[in-house]
Amino acid sequence: MNKLFSFRLALGLAISTLGCIKLLAADSGVILEQTEKQLRVTWPISEQENGVAVFSLDETKPLIESLGIAASRQPASVVMKALNPVTLLTVGSRDSKNPQGWGAFFDKTSTRPYETFLVALGKRRVQTTNEGNRTTIRLADASAGGFSGDVRCTFFRNSPLIHLETVMTTKEDWRAIIYDTGLASATPDWDWMGWNDTSGNFQSAKLNPSAAAEPLAVAGRALVASGRTGSLAVFPAPHQFFYPQDEAFNNKFVWYGRDYAKRVGDFGFGIRQSPTGDDRYVPWFNAPPGTEQHLGVFYLLTRGDARSALAEVARYTHGDRYKRLPDHLTYTSHYHVEHSKNFLERQKQQQTTGVPRGLETPGFVKTFKARGVDIAHLAEFHYEDGSRLSETNRLAKLKVMHDELRRLSDGELLLLPGEEPNVQLGGHWMSLFPKPVNWTLNRPEGTPFVEEVAGYGKVYHVGSPADVLQLFEAEHGLFWTAHPRIKASFGFPDQYKDTAFFHSDRFLGGAWKAMPADLSRPTLGWRVLDLLDDMSNWGAKKQAPGEVDTFRMEPDYETYAHMNINYLRLAKLPRYDDGWQPVLEALRGGEFFTTTGEILISRFTVGGQQSGQTLKLRNNDQPVLAAELEWTFPLAFAEVISGDGEKVFRQRMDLTDTGSFGTRTLRLPLDLKGRTWVRLEVWDIAANGAFTQPVWLVGGKAE
Ligand SMILES: [Zn+2]
Repeated sequence: MNKLFSFRLALGLAISTLGCIKLLAADSGVILEQTEKQLRVTWPISEQENGVAVFSLDETKPLIESLGIAASRQPASVVMKALNPVTLLTVGSRDSKNPQGWGAFFDKTSTRPYETFLVALGKRRVQTTNEGNRTTIRLADASAGGFSGDVRCTFFRNSPLIHLETVMTTKEDWRAIIYDTGLASATPDWDWMGWNDTSGNFQSAKLNPSAAAEPLAVAGRALVASGRTGSLAVFPAPHQFFYPQDEAFNNKFVWYGRDYAKRVGDFGFGIRQSPTGDDRYVPWFNAPPGTEQHLGVFYLLTRGDARSALAEVARYTHGDRYKRLPDHLTYTSHYHVEHSKNFLERQKQQQTTGVPRGLETPGFVKTFKARGVDIAHLAEFHYEDGSRLSETNRLAKLKVMHDELRRLSDGELLLLPGEEPNVQLGGHWMSLFPKPVNWTLNRPEGTPFVEEVAGYGKVYHVGSPADVLQLFEAEHGLFWTAHPRIKASFGFPDQYKDTAFFHSDRFLGGAWKAMPADLSRPTLGWRVLDLLDDMSNWGAKKQAPGEVDTFRMEPDYETYAHMNINYLRLAKLPRYDDGWQPVLEALRGGEFFTTTGEILISRFTVGGQQSGQTLKLRNNDQPVLAAELEWTFPLAFAEVISGDGEKVFRQRMDLTDTGSFGTRTLRLPLDLKGRTWVRLEVWDIAANGAFTQPVWLVGGKAE
């Protein structure tokens, strides 16, 4: 018996009766009943209903014998049966010669040799771990293309979610990966496939078991297999599944049909990644040797039809919309939509001096509104090296940007002029003024710093870091490092951290984006969070707002996956004509938190002080951290991060007792003796996250 059944008991109770072992995992409510051939998992999917998953321990049979739903004390009605998890692992390489190494974004992985492998499932087994209100079961060995590990399923108390992961490790160096995954059956017995098309309209197709598999572009990243007794939706982690790119194209991230990629054979459905992406830079996911790569997917089991399954999935991302939060406005930054360029080109084509046809309400305006963005900060004129523009040309172009963003801003959306200069400071940086400002990015010999130009008024010329600082001081602007420590800002802001402009309060810090990507990490985007900690330890009092750094934003693109948002503590949307100084003050004051959208930190204080404020520590003080959290996916953990000017300290709070769609007030006394700053991060099971800016501490240094 002991050889057959290797349970790891944590808060569990095992009962053995006549060839059947029954395990009650107390906190998750999961009941495991195991015989020699079968594992039956019953878990509460709501207060009223149980999900029932039956797994076969016979390697000649499909791993999933059935998935069903049972009302309490009723037998289960089967929704799907005879399914095998199928995963295609595509293994390529990162460029080991790139000076930025694993961090490099400018890497075209798909232009080097790569190979796709169907993950082979090996020996079946049952190994259980319980964490909080969730139970993970390792079900089968898995291997493909130099990687090996296992397939595991996690069930959550009172949740219809099944988190299926193929977790694998390689010993080979410089591997980059992507994966496609789903479920396949030799005897598909459901009736319909359903999805929302990229316009958001529901579509369905009658099951045709002989139809060849095709990738499909959908809205909301979800696809549903549906029958008379219920539906099973498949969808990825909304952000983590998408490696960083310049374009947020919808690269057909789901699939269904027979013999997917000519490797699956059976009829199946699932999620997929594109090896070539936007055909620009495609760094894929880093898979360094020895790391456990989690190739994950979510399934949602419901009695409902395909439409209601899609609606249930959409709740996890608030319908791909940043939720309104009282006394906050959403601010997003760094978009190269090149509206001014398009405007001028189309004016020329259409021989008009007015608004060209087709640009009355551009796609990016519709997209920002659909995502729930209040304030969007653009990065125009990225296609050209601004310093080489002749002055009249540049001033005319700035006028188009200013006039157009005034025209397109309204009571719902404020569009802010901005640029990503690549001159004068080193690396790339973002510019933000509180009103339209005319400036050129160069200052030829003999040109004054500022002059009056007929038709434009005051025009600044910057030819050095000192000029840049003087301009931003004169116009109360803010500037910061774009994509710090990566891309063309590799080595920055570190290389200019001792300059006058860096120390100025006009220099905000560095912007955060989930880049690079590594599926072995439980969080996204550690690069700039580490920078925020470093800058805080330098004593610099800088901020790290989220940036998105993509090109076009169109309503049918997969924009939500690539986005993050900053919730500014700002109650009233400024009018374009009044200027937007309050936006800059909220940024400069650290009065915001940043999130992928699924987790909200609507209040965060330490000793009563909010992010950006300063707390005076007294001897033997144990200030209390208080935070109001709201979330959609079950949470994983929170981390309190602090520093003493040299070292970074992390204190992790386990949140595995949380379910879906919850709220909680965290209260935690902190020992901050000797610390100079403290901040909070919160992460969920899908690597969605939210983080605050630091609270600054004084008086904590040992006397
Ligand atoms: Zn850039």
